Amino acid sequence: MSKIVMKTPLVEMDGDEMTRILWQMIKDELLLPYIDLKCEYYDLGLEKRNETDDQITIDAANATKKYGVAVKCATITPNAARVEEYKLKEMYKSPNGTIRAILDGTVFRAPIIVKGIEPCVRNWEKPIIIARHAYGDVYKASEMKIPGPGRVELVYTDEKGNEQRISVHEFDGPGVVQGQHNLNASIESFARSCFNYALDQKQDLWFATKDTISKQYDHTFKDIFQEIFDDEYKSRFDEAGIEYFYTLIDDAVARVMKSKGGFIWACKNYDGDVMSDMLSSAFGSLAMMTSVLVSPQGYYEYEAAHGTVQRHYYKHLAGEETSTNSVATIFAWTGALRKRGQLDDISQLCDFADALEKACIRTIEEGEMTGDLALITSLKNPVKLNSLDFIKAIRKRLDEELS
Ligand code: NAP
Ligand code: MG
Repeated sequence: MSKIVMKTPLVEMDGDEMTRILWQMIKDELLLPYIDLKCEYYDLGLEKRNETDDQITIDAANATKKYGVAVKCATITPNAARVEEYKLKEMYKSPNGTIRAILDGTVFRAPIIVKGIEPCVRNWEKPIIIARHAYGDVYKASEMKIPGPGRVELVYTDEKGNEQRISVHEFDGPGVVQGQHNLNASIESFARSCFNYALDQKQDLWFATKDTISKQYDHTFKDIFQEIFDDEYKSRFDEAGIEYFYTLIDDAVARVMKSKGGFIWACKNYDGDVMSDMLSSAFGSLAMMTSVLVSPQGYYEYEAAHGTVQRHYYKHLAGEETSTNSVATIFAWTGALRKRGQLDDISQLCDFADALEKACIRTIEEGEMTGDLALITSLKNPVKLNSLDFIKAIRKRLDEELS
């Protein structure tokens, strides 16, 4: 069989720890034998980031703007322990944060549903997709420790030097303070990405904030969504038979638990971070959640929603067998390859992505899976495979799908 030929390169962002090991296995077993893989490679592993003072991350984000589609492996966000472990020159920012700040946009996270892995919430019949705003708020906050009594104020100085000033708090002892911001332009593109995605998926869109408490900040999000919806999307939603629904975040959480699923839930940055982890565990496993960053200009960056699976990596380094689930990382590749196929009009690439996803799902449904799923499956007598054998089991089905 001849290999599928690509036109435009994918931006490939390698990563850290166990997911870096899986990354190579996936390429060797599931991609390189079938595709004449054209990638522009960026090593976002922590050593390379340290070597380049993190310039490599910025270069990778800019390459995504150039080519349009990227696939990213999970990466370490350094903390104090990592600075020590990797002898880092500084505590670099989260690569995902850096990339999102450059590309802007919205992160859509969807669980991968398979038979035999039932959600803990019994009434969830369909996936719930989280749309996470990927800019600002607490992720771009300025913070200060307040050592003792004193006044904290917010000051805005316009271009002519006029000031607006409000008090945050009169401290009578030590405390902490934080300044957050967002941009109307970013909120507008968040809203449009969500409305477009809802139309694309033909699913209802929910959005929630805490506008009753945050009458300026969160209320601005609510107002911008409503204005854009009324002006640009209302009639198209009516035609598609779907709806846009706004409510308070606490009400949304309660309703989500009682729903049947099958909608998109737009969340502010922090809500999306937390709620996507809750949804992915409730749908079965962190390792069964895909993630794609969609920028307002139409750039796409695909990844798994989980981290570098550090505990498994240390086992791997100690020479012990691991059983790490590669499905979300494989789906990052299939998402990117399918998008490249659509943009470059290479139907074989899209068909390959479909076949590989089907092979992953069949492998699990036919009873062969990694330890995380074997623990929770309702299938009788599941076979628990190690990391490489699971990928080989997928390859066997992939060959069947392709022949
Ligand atoms: P994690 O890597 O997502 O792992 C947390 C736990 O979830 C694991 O210990 C494992 O549980 C389970 N798990 C996650 N993915 C799995 C998989 N594919 N197969 C099987 N089990 C899986 O999160 P973390 O341990 O909090 O973070 C580790 C590193 O990842 C950190 O340095 C963090 O900065 C980074 N991180 C990166 C990203 C990203 O690049 N997008 C996202 C989150 C975290 P058991 O140990 O019980 O088996
Ligand atoms: Mg998180």
